[in-house]
Amino acid sequence: MLIRRAEVEGQLRDVRLADGRIAAIAERLATREGEAAIDAEGGALLPGLHDHHVHLLSLAAALGSVACGPPAVSDRSALAASLRAARGDFLRGVGYHESVAGPLDRVSLDGLVPDRPARLQHRSGALWMLNSRAIDRLGLDRGADAPGVERDPAGRATGRLFRLDAWLRDRLGPSVPPDLAPVGRLLARCGVTGVTDATADTDASALALLEAAVASGALPQRLAVMGGAALPAPAHPGIARAQVKLVLDDAALPGFEALCAAIVDAHARGRGVAIHCVGRAELVLAARALAEAGPDADDRLEHASLAPPELVALVAATGATVVTQPHFLEERGDDYLREVEARDLPWLYRGRAWIEAGVRLAGGSDAPFGSPDPWRAVRAAVRRRTRAGATLGEDERLAPERALALFLGPLGDPGGPPRRVALGAPADLCLLDRPWRSAREAPSSAHVRATWRAGRLVHDG
Ligand SMILES: [Zn+2]
Repeated sequence: MLIRRAEVEGQLRDVRLADGRIAAIAERLATREGEAAIDAEGGALLPGLHDHHVHLLSLAAALGSVACGPPAVSDRSALAASLRAARGDFLRGVGYHESVAGPLDRVSLDGLVPDRPARLQHRSGALWMLNSRAIDRLGLDRGADAPGVERDPAGRATGRLFRLDAWLRDRLGPSVPPDLAPVGRLLARCGVTGVTDATADTDASALALLEAAVASGALPQRLAVMGGAALPAPAHPGIARAQVKLVLDDAALPGFEALCAAIVDAHARGRGVAIHCVGRAELVLAARALAEAGPDADDRLEHASLAPPELVALVAATGATVVTQPHFLEERGDDYLREVEARDLPWLYRGRAWIEAGVRLAGGSDAPFGSPDPWRAVRAAVRRRTRAGATLGEDERLAPERALALFLGPLGDPGGPPRRVALGAPADLCLLDRPWRSAREAPSSAHVRATWRAGRLVHDG
């Protein structure tokens, strides 16, 4: 394949792809017999984007689910309408937030969906809310139980299930496995050629689904998979086993010793850790435990959503990479303005402060909990504006090039130097329909014209 007249690092070049790699870059390359050619017309040719934090199976399920939160659904009547219109025997809703209709339990959900089982996932991903029909289907009032099933003083399930994804999946029995092909296509459309699945409870059966999708080409992206300490090594050579994911939850923080032991254990297995920390207490605990357990170059802090100056310094001292979600400022910023203390608002999803402190910074969509389109994150890292137009943490703005670089690190070193369009590099590429000087003014996936993964065209707009 020959890509003609592409903008490569600011210069107009022809680029030849062969054997999965960039085989030649020159001002002018002659087309070989039988070689496919595309005229880039001066559009920027970039390394394919890597999404360093995504949940693929949840994203696949979400694509077939009912939207239950902003911006699609913003109040109770819109939620009722959207649930009423949905098909299916067991409704699955995603993206719920209390700003829509307050905290939900079985009673309030029965008011919305009385006639069939329904489960709604909270936007945080940490909570499922079930109506009475769903509770009945799962047997929660008839003996079925797990830590995380909330009960009222009489022992009746309230319908609120905390961090029980894998348990729910098992209880719901063999359903149709989520189709990853639409996910692969969606990501390719955004120029994404590599992803790290950051799901904590990925088990052997979930891994098998991911492996099958990579093997069949349904998921054309490069893939690294986190999961727990016990996750088996992927059999497929195209899939890397990544960090041990450790989820910290403000409501039930583990003891310091236990967290240190988990980190030491992961390192002994030759794996770094990726610690989910959103709140201040979680970040303090994670940073202190990393310092105590001793560093591993692969260690990461996921989100690090709220980081006042003293915590930025604490994190910098650990050497861990921070994987951030600046698009949450756009998607959730107006809620933050209501819910987060004013003094903390400038410390949300920081950009410049991390970089200036010497922290390696990378980006991840956290889809389906955030938009799977990394260009939204790039734009939000530059603009830091909420949907309603307020600005959050103006000093944290990044230049478009730096924001894009959040998605250009290799999967194995997300905060490392950006990959480049260079001779011999893997032909994981994203071609824009315009030069970078124009694309940088309004970063958007709408400008992605074509995507190659290992030299194979996986999206052609
Ligand atoms: Zn996540």
